[in-house]
Amino acid sequence: MTSLATKTPAEIDTEIARVTAAIYAHHAKAEQTQREKARAIEHMNAGAQFVTPDTLARQRENIAELQHRIDRAYDDAAQLSARDLRPLLDEFDRRGGWTRYYLVDNTNGHLHTTQRCRNTYASTQWYWVTELSGATAAEAVDAAGSLSCLTCFPDQRAIIESGRPSRIQSPNQRKTREEREAAAAAKAAKAAAAAAKAISNPDGTPLVIPDYVGTRTLKTETAAHRAALQAAGDLLLYPNSSYADAMRETIRLCAAALAHKRGTTPETEQDAILAKAQAKYDRETAAAK
Ligand SMILES: [Zn+2]
Repeated sequence: MTSLATKTPAEIDTEIARVTAAIYAHHAKAEQTQREKARAIEHMNAGAQFVTPDTLARQRENIAELQHRIDRAYDDAAQLSARDLRPLLDEFDRRGGWTRYYLVDNTNGHLHTTQRCRNTYASTQWYWVTELSGATAAEAVDAAGSLSCLTCFPDQRAIIESGRPSRIQSPNQRKTREEREAAAAAKAAKAAAAAAKAISNPDGTPLVIPDYVGTRTLKTETAAHRAALQAAGDLLLYPNSSYADAMRETIRLCAAALAHKRGTTPETEQDAILAKAQAKYDRETAAAK
């Protein structure tokens, strides 16, 4: 076992924060079980005259078990307090204390030397920056930069006002930042995926093809390929249709856009489309015979 005397203020305060959180958790559990027990008693009393003695006995057992759990939670908290927390607090006193720093736990929350700083409120949510425990004011301001409180660090005004960014973050601030970054990354990935599928005319303008009724804008590579194939197929079936020119124009526009997208030539794309449409036409005519 390492001696407490050799530990740094930061190590000791980090441990104090951990043990304190565990004690709070036991208290919260005890209080929650207490409420559960109160409901169970209420329920038992309300129905006492309607239930069998067996049921009543089971309800009493359940209530006793809940009380047992409450006692155990408080015992665990008391044990942590006496066995783990007390020596840490004693070591703080034995050394005559050391500096401690607290961060307001919201976006752009500032670093303070005390939770009683007049620039904060009773409702302020705090994060105890235990890694700075024992640090000098200059070291703390070096870490928190422009997010250091001017009231708490009056001698460091020049550095604080120089606008240096903070290197410290509470877990909540880190979580918020990570969520924001993840959302931005997801949005960028979505945009990249859409761009990968997107199509336009070679000059970047929207790919608009003549349709049987008016015009149609094609937004994806797949849509352009499908429209060109459809037009080529229609052209084989109805070469003398009044829409024949529109079909040829559709094939030309789509082939040019596809070539631009794929780094090929319009001729290559057009030949492939016509060949594919021809093959489909031949298959269908053969089947019809
Ligand atoms: Zn302050």
